[in-house]
Amino acid sequence: MTNKNKKVVVRIAPSPTGALHVGTARTALFNYLFAKHYRGKFILRIEDTDKERSDKKWEKDILDGLRWLGIDWDGKIHHQSKRIKIYKKYLDKMLKEKKAFYCWHTKEELDKERGEQTKQKQAPRHICSYRNKDATKKNLKDAIIRFKNDTKDTLKFNDLIRDEIKFESENFGDFSIAKSLTEPLYNFAVVIDDYQMKVTHIIRGEDHIPNTPRQILLQQALGMPMPKYAHLPLILGSDKSKLSKRHGATSVTEYKKLGYLPDALFNFLAILGWRGKNDEKEILDRKEIIQEFLLEDVQKSGAIFDVEKLNWMNGEYIRKISLKELTQLSIPYLTEAGYLDGIKRNTLQKIQKIIALEQTRMKKLLDIVDTADFFFKQNDYDITKLLWKDMRKLELQNILFSLDDIIKNIDLKSSWDKENLEKIIMPEAEKLGDRGKMLWPLRYALSGKDKSPGPFEIMEIIGKEATIAVIKKAQNKIAKLQK
Ligand SMILES: [Zn+2]
Repeated sequence: MTNKNKKVVVRIAPSPTGALHVGTARTALFNYLFAKHYRGKFILRIEDTDKERSDKKWEKDILDGLRWLGIDWDGKIHHQSKRIKIYKKYLDKMLKEKKAFYCWHTKEELDKERGEQTKQKQAPRHICSYRNKDATKKNLKDAIIRFKNDTKDTLKFNDLIRDEIKFESENFGDFSIAKSLTEPLYNFAVVIDDYQMKVTHIIRGEDHIPNTPRQILLQQALGMPMPKYAHLPLILGSDKSKLSKRHGATSVTEYKKLGYLPDALFNFLAILGWRGKNDEKEILDRKEIIQEFLLEDVQKSGAIFDVEKLNWMNGEYIRKISLKELTQLSIPYLTEAGYLDGIKRNTLQKIQKIIALEQTRMKKLLDIVDTADFFFKQNDYDITKLLWKDMRKLELQNILFSLDDIIKNIDLKSSWDKENLEKIIMPEAEKLGDRGKMLWPLRYALSGKDKSPGPFEIMEIIGKEATIAVIKKAQNKIAKLQK
């Protein structure tokens, strides 16, 4: 598919008009993978000619997001806003060769024309009455520049994912290419850039398919070679409509904040519309993905962004990293939640113990804030939840009384760790005939949650004083219970 003698050059060309969307990140990733697979070049071009909508803050968000994901581009970043002179040169050339012309039709006139064409069920297009007129005498400020489209043939291109795509080129009419000599429009600037940057393969979302014939017509008019095209399937939400805000987070920054790991998101985005040699295998590291990535294996149909799957995958990656690294990654979330205020002594050791207990369950870093809150503060809970099976108030009161007694009597000279606590408390629980009678209320009082690590593990981490406070609180609450 690729000529071995010609170096593969691809590009990602985001507009800095919003945060880095996961769809843009996926397109960037596929370009990156393709370039890496064929040892080619991956260019980053910022399409910032729309002065009103472009913003440096969004450019920063895009660059930060790509860097965080580990999608590195080659060479310097190109800005379209710095290439205006280049576009002007080509616009001048096209005007001089009468391949482009000035059009003075107003928006109202064009809207009216489009309305009539739509009414007659024709494809809207503008065949301009100024196409053969000399522009020198009129006021150019009120005019835009259009491509003089004299083509009548069927325009075909072979898409590397979707096979042959055909268009009737006359359907595009005399389409606009610039608002003025210094304000090129999208399709025009893209053609010039891709040519000058020697782009060999254009890999982009299928929403760009309608732009492709216009760009090919411009390449033909300018005598530029046609790159190869590959249009990626759209990313869909769980309901199979186009992925949008109502499906949840859509920007890379949001996923980063929620505590997804870059390796996991990289892997997840890679299999969003692509499968490797073994399509059963979904967890693939960067090296494997690069080795196996072929455009031929990209699917044609829309790719569903399944957050549940991302959660599962992220959990798998969380379990792959070292406890030390996971602890470091989790600390900012615990700090943000205010859990680490005023905790000083043995903090890191304590946090590491907590993370060790939660690592098996975590799906994203932010989960630690909810699942492990009881290690840092006493949770409130429904007192009836402390009752094991058909247990009554009086029985629970007696059990809490014994627990209080046992725990207070644990000599701090013997070690306060889960093994020792189990050795002391378990025989007492066994004496009740059903050890759940003691272990359940103890665990529930400690965590205030239906699911949590076991009581001895929690007690080891929070310490004797905090455990006694937990029992005391349960005793106070149960006193208020009717029966
Ligand atoms: Zn016109």
